[in-house]
Amino acid sequence: MRAGARQQGGGVRRRHGGSGGTVAAARWLAWLLCLLLPATALAGTAQPGRDVLLLGAATDEQTPQRACMPDVLARHQQVLAVAAPAEGWSGAPQAVDVFGVLTGEVRISHGDREICGNMHDARTRDSRFRAGVGMVVVPEAGEREPIVVSWTTPLKPGWIPTVRLGAPSPVQQNDTARLLVRAACIAVVIALGLSALMGYVTAKDRSFLIYVAVCLVFVLWQAVLGGLSGYPEPWLPVHDRAAWWLVALSAFAQAVLLPVLWRLNGGDRLWPGSRAGQQAVLWGLVAAGLCVPWMGLAALAWTASALEHVHVFGCVVCLGVGLWALWRRDGYALAGLLALAPWWIMIIADALEVRWLTAYRIEALQLSATWFLMMSAYALNLRLGRLRQQRDEMRQLADTDGLTGLPNRRAGLRLLARHMERATLEHQPLAIGFLDIDLFKDINDQFGHEVGDQVLVAVARGLRGSVRSQDDVIRMGGEEFLVLLPGAGHAAALARLENVRQQVASVSAVLGIAGLAVTASIGAAVLRPGRDDLAGLLRRADHAMYRAKRAGRNQVCDAEQPAPADDPVVV
Ligand code: GH3
Ligand code: MG
Ligand code: MG
Repeated sequence: MRAGARQQGGGVRRRHGGSGGTVAAARWLAWLLCLLLPATALAGTAQPGRDVLLLGAATDEQTPQRACMPDVLARHQQVLAVAAPAEGWSGAPQAVDVFGVLTGEVRISHGDREICGNMHDARTRDSRFRAGVGMVVVPEAGEREPIVVSWTTPLKPGWIPTVRLGAPSPVQQNDTARLLVRAACIAVVIALGLSALMGYVTAKDRSFLIYVAVCLVFVLWQAVLGGLSGYPEPWLPVHDRAAWWLVALSAFAQAVLLPVLWRLNGGDRLWPGSRAGQQAVLWGLVAAGLCVPWMGLAALAWTASALEHVHVFGCVVCLGVGLWALWRRDGYALAGLLALAPWWIMIIADALEVRWLTAYRIEALQLSATWFLMMSAYALNLRLGRLRQQRDEMRQLADTDGLTGLPNRRAGLRLLARHMERATLEHQPLAIGFLDIDLFKDINDQFGHEVGDQVLVAVARGLRGSVRSQDDVIRMGGEEFLVLLPGAGHAAALARLENVRQQVASVSAVLGIAGLAVTASIGAAVLRPGRDDLAGLLRRADHAMYRAKRAGRNQVCDAEQPAPADDPVVV
């Protein structure tokens, strides 16, 4: 017992060492802040006497737009001439905004005015247009010169551009609204990724890290798809390789999207053996994405359309799995079906060639991806909840004695350490009673183990009734119990332990088994601050209990009482 107590005491110290690590880290952080804050304050006061901050420098640039390069124009196979109304232009300014040209530059011209802009470089565009490439022209009243827009043939036949024509203000508002949706989608994904990172720090579960990686892929994909990678100037080396970037990132996005959809829809739970298939899809698509930089345009177009087919096929399979799982009352599959819903809406809208999808394809794709990640985060949180529940149950199991439901030795020593800490801090007394049922072996031998167990349960119940908190009675093992008496001084502890002894003596009457007599010997010890550690306190109570045994059992012995001369010391 003593050796065990010493070990446990060591365990307690080790745990303190763990929290000491956190304290040390916090201390380092505090030092760092102390150093950084004055430095920041000094940097802020470096220019005294100013009441405005002027940034930037004078410019000699004549126009905000860049002239079109001949090699860019040579690649433009698609031309749209926006004809003037029958009576000619009204003389009011006309805004033209072109969306959805995912690769290459767009040229807008009217008469001898022309601009060329690239979705992946905000510096090439008229800054009044943010999501699309736009231009404001002011044709003279009655003039009939058309506004001409040209661009390169899109990689995928269905992904045609949208040209919006109208008064500058509403066209620009629509353009800004689109940019806000695109930026908001990316912001939501970043927030989801960061919160998953925090989830990983708390739960140390690998799924959270995988989710963070998935978010990263979707942030990059959305940034290139929506043109945010070009703001305020390109922060990804896209240059004129936007088609390659898009196809590669689409392959990576598919690589994570399909297995996650499969899992969300319950595929894993229905067919646990499907892991190999999921891995094959994941790594196959990743490999396809990695090959993209070396592809020619024809192979790229083929890969883009193959990815689309894979996506549709994956959505069909996942829908089937989700419905099947739901049919089999797997409620978790609902999150999967919800995650799938926007992708299905887009697949159907695409098949029906619906106008809104053509006009708002980028926003629709980004919203679908963000919704998918939100549903995945929901599923991940459910998983975190289940993990926490399992961990709590396991901890409960590990800390509880199965027979009596009392805290076991491990948990008990932890509780005692906590009580000792508090008693020392708050200068409050703390007493313990070490209780051992008398001649319990004889009870087992005479009445059988089952009755022995009943006695243990009845004693546990009786002890529980005689302390303030249920946690203050611990089964230390076998027929030994520990009673914690926080706040009890010497006299109070002895009185309460005497009461405990009487409780135990009444157990035989409660059980009503003829000839059964249950008594206990109890050793009492009061904490001596600064002199007792956990093992020392327990040892003194243990010694006192043995003295009670030797003095004839069924009594409370005080550790403070001097041991009789003939009392052999138990070491
Ligand atoms: P003493 O008064 O000196 O303490 O004598 P004792 O018989 O109580 O002490 P001893 O250590 O010789 O015997 C303890 C017995 O408790 C031996 C063991 O079989 C029994 N025991 C330990 N755990 C359980 C249990 O969970 N259920 C039952 N029924 N018996 C147990
Ligand atoms: Mg014993
Ligand atoms: Mg005993």
